Amino acid sequence: MSLNTILETPHYVAYQRATDRSIAIELREDATDVASDRRPSMTVKHVEEDGTVNYYEEATSETQNKWKRALGPLLAKFVVKPAVQLEGNKFTGNVTSSALFEFPRGYKLYTHKKGDHYDPRKDNYLIGSQHVRAFRSPQEFFLHAKWLMEGQAYNSDGTRACGCCYCNPAVTQSDIARQYGTGHISDKPRRQRTSRPRPATSGVIQAKDYTKFNVSSKSS
Ligand SMILES: [Zn+2]
Repeated sequence: MSLNTILETPHYVAYQRATDRSIAIELREDATDVASDRRPSMTVKHVEEDGTVNYYEEATSETQNKWKRALGPLLAKFVVKPAVQLEGNKFTGNVTSSALFEFPRGYKLYTHKKGDHYDPRKDNYLIGSQHVRAFRSPQEFFLHAKWLMEGQAYNSDGTRACGCCYCNPAVTQSDIARQYGTGHISDKPRRQRTSRPRPATSGVIQAKDYTKFNVSSKSS
């Protein structure tokens, strides 16, 4: 399959496939804000006496690809396309089937498994940023990825000129979903159906447990 380079910047390279005009985005080494020690602390599966687990494992390649395919159309449409047009060129890419090759250098996608070890709740977290503890969905990460791809600019008051809901507390993920049409707000956990009885509290949405992350690195 042939890939034509349509844009090269100091931070990424964008390719267009000849066959379907989809865009493939390759981040360069410096398109990251990685913190070397940002990782979950509980990465060993241990079944408690009550049959529950609470641990993180690297997300399956299927899940990782799902995130990269969700990020591709957003980054192609809101980062690559305007950059191509800014250079005075016509953008002919097909954004819908676009994809990101790899997450930023040093980032890793984890799946948090919690609850009954036969049927744990599964939540995905993209971890690695020194500024943001974890991104919970491709839609949450997309504007931070845009910031990384566009050179990590800062405002005159020293705050990050990033539109994501963590760097810019003035916006909510709902605002972002409305403005960019990102669709669903977060990557809702999917439970597999089983015949096991559920505890009475199973319908309660639990608050995200961030306390298990390594927080020794600086954050703001
Ligand atoms: Zn951000």
